[in-house]
Amino acid sequence: MPATKTDWADLEARYYMRTFTRLPVVFERGEGCYVYDDEGKAYLDMVAGLAVNILGHAHPVLVEAMTKQAQKLIHASSLYYSEPQLQLAQWLIERSPADRVFFANSGAEANEGAIKLARKHGRLHRDGAYEVITVSGSFHGRTLATIAATAQPKFQEPFLPMPDGFKSVSFNDFDSMREAITPKTAAIMLECVQGESGIHIHDGEYLRAVRRLCDEHNLLLMCDEIQCGLGRTGTFYGFQQFGFEPDVFTLAKGLAGGLPIGAILATERAAVFTAGDHGSTMGGNPVCCAAGMAAMRYLEEQQLAANAARAGQALKDELANLKETMPGIVEVRGMGLMIAFDTAKPIAQQVVREGLGQGIILNATGPNTVRMVPPLIVGQGEVEKAVGLVAASLKRVAAA
Ligand SMILES: *Cc1c(COP(=O)(O)O)cnc(C)c1O
Repeated sequence: MPATKTDWADLEARYYMRTFTRLPVVFERGEGCYVYDDEGKAYLDMVAGLAVNILGHAHPVLVEAMTKQAQKLIHASSLYYSEPQLQLAQWLIERSPADRVFFANSGAEANEGAIKLARKHGRLHRDGAYEVITVSGSFHGRTLATIAATAQPKFQEPFLPMPDGFKSVSFNDFDSMREAITPKTAAIMLECVQGESGIHIHDGEYLRAVRRLCDEHNLLLMCDEIQCGLGRTGTFYGFQQFGFEPDVFTLAKGLAGGLPIGAILATERAAVFTAGDHGSTMGGNPVCCAAGMAAMRYLEEQQLAANAARAGQALKDELANLKETMPGIVEVRGMGLMIAFDTAKPIAQQVVREGLGQGIILNATGPNTVRMVPPLIVGQGEVEKAVGLVAASLKRVAAA
């Protein structure tokens, strides 16, 4: 058994596909908002496995739900009825504008399903229209269709040509959206708050105008809620911050508190799949759905969306204060617990590395942008500690 970081780095260099630029740390266990490396060092986790561990680490409620379900039945397939799957379906639908759900295993897969809904909607209700319009800077996943939907050239270039049927428009720009619509358009897909591009928030007025545009042209409005959903912005769904409702939306990341899951939710009108149109071997797996049920109940009972609003505001305010004393920070953005700051110089990656040294996990979304999407259970104490550690990390980068 390898014992040191060097050994793990060596194994990954030899055997793993060259897809990740990993940070030099091996995480071994976690508890609450902290994770611990193989030497027992603690890190305040402001990334939460990229917005996944919404209840923090090793939450007893989650551990118990997973354990109990694993002892009963780990997998059976959706050829049969499944208790946890249908309980989670009912719970989600009763709290959403959607009427039907389908469970997948990841965000990209949920978005693929949404794109299939768009195409079938176009075929049935818009003379065979099939095109999906997306927004510059978006991120919708890593499968071929979802990188085609992701309007960022760096994700597409190595894999050209892209599948047909996608078109992108500039961010928060209503005129360019309106002009992009043709008889081929079936749907518009967007994130109310873009995550991967470094936390960019659409205007409510823009989103409501896009909603009207979709109604006028009988297009599906599809919201990718994979990062901004599930309480993170301060309301259960991100779109609730902006006063409109989509026809289709997708969830993943935090839905099962750390187990793989994805979900497509759609109104009755948009839920156009019929028997045989879609499927998934693992989608709706009992253990993942039992974990999802536990995570969602806890989120609701403990009012974690309200906590996200409160803690997120505190974090944004404290970072804005820091900006006054730290010339290195040029902008702080965020909504709830989706927060980013931009640095004047391209030092985001160095800040992340220094952060590890200081005992905080941060994420760089680009050369000048540091993002935080912490567990929804963070309190005032963790917020203050995080800002102190960010300041210390910035100082060390400036001194280097
Ligand atoms: C993470 C993310 C995805 C992709 O999810 P995977 O589970 O990695 O496939 C899609 N959309 C958004 C907005 C995301 O943040």
